[in-house]
Amino acid sequence: MAPAFQHEALPGRVRFGSGAIAALAEEAERLAVERVIILTGPRQRAQAEIAAAVLGARVVGVFDQAAMHTPVEVTEQTLSVVVARGADCVLAVGGGSSIGLGKAIALRTDLPQIVVPTTYAGSEATPILGQTEHGLKTTLRSPKVLPEVIVYDIDLTLTLPVALSMTSGLNAIAHAAEALYAPDGNPLVSLMAEQGVAALADGLPRIHQAPHGLEGRTQALYGAWLCGSCLGLVGMALHHKICHTLGGTFDLPHAETHAVMLPHTLAFNLPAAPEARDRLSRVLGGVDPAGALAELAARVGAPRALRDLGMPESGIATAADLAVRNPYANPRPVDRDLIEAMLRRAWAGDWPQDERGGVDARG
Ligand code: NAD
Repeated sequence: MAPAFQHEALPGRVRFGSGAIAALAEEAERLAVERVIILTGPRQRAQAEIAAAVLGARVVGVFDQAAMHTPVEVTEQTLSVVVARGADCVLAVGGGSSIGLGKAIALRTDLPQIVVPTTYAGSEATPILGQTEHGLKTTLRSPKVLPEVIVYDIDLTLTLPVALSMTSGLNAIAHAAEALYAPDGNPLVSLMAEQGVAALADGLPRIHQAPHGLEGRTQALYGAWLCGSCLGLVGMALHHKICHTLGGTFDLPHAETHAVMLPHTLAFNLPAAPEARDRLSRVLGGVDPAGALAELAARVGAPRALRDLGMPESGIATAADLAVRNPYANPRPVDRDLIEAMLRRAWAGDWPQDERGGVDARG
């Protein structure tokens, strides 16, 4: 444990459980809001309508154009609807894309937000917003974008396709893993991170076996809350920097990119972060948690190679250059050539290399 630390809790109410969406009217009442606008993506209209049915006459509109990476044009279009309808609350139903749109509206209006997350990405628990304008993604932190209320309803996650459930769960694990070696980490964050990874490592294989089983879904959503909370509380490192670079430069899909990269970035970082390695070993098993994670990912059918996500081989050197530019704080110095070698392995779908260097994690 760190001899000295700081912790600043983030405000927010959380309701968790099967059928929790039924509490939306009560939550609107607590916030004293009367005119709720519901935001979602085009494929999640039906789930938004469930929320609308619970809220009844309090709903002033359902807007279903949320898109990945929160394009500013969509936010502006939504904002005009929010103003025209006189909304006094934003309710986002969906994954990080819907939640990002809700946050972008809250940033511009300071309206209170209720969020019903349906993936494991974790955005609901953070004061972070990424927005895209003219192809450029910028990220900000503001207490204005932190949702006031999160309603985790396990039932709404039952329809999340298995492949996306696995990659989204690995995306959540990435937040917790990097929180374990964050310079601004603390013992409470480490507890949440370890338990978050444990819950997802238990839940994901169960979902893989039985996608509609409540047990696996409950574990995964609980883990997602813990991991998302870690992301909201401390700074991220090399793994998130590489994923942002790959997503922004090559338009690679968000959760899948995290899933491919995480075993590689952990194999690189954990030798320099022994406490994080020990905690991850406890919950993932084995002396080499990066290898254990690669095995878990393989067992649940997650993608393994950047080339399968559409990354051109010719882009690897550029990605390495960008990944080491303005690096985030990281437990191990970020060496450009080592990063390029790591990206080559990830591109080809090779096994991550562990701390012994040159020996793969099964060696
Ligand atoms: P997403 O919200 O784009 O959802 C992916 C797809 O899954 C969509 O087509 C959606 O309609 C569908 N879907 C979601 N839930 C479903 C369900 N229960 N049943 C059926 N289909 C469902 O993806 P995501 O991975 O949740 O979010 C990615 C975005 O979130 C990225 O833009 C990323 O940058 C952002 N993000 C932000 C933060 C933050 O703290 N600001 C954290 C994590 C992710």
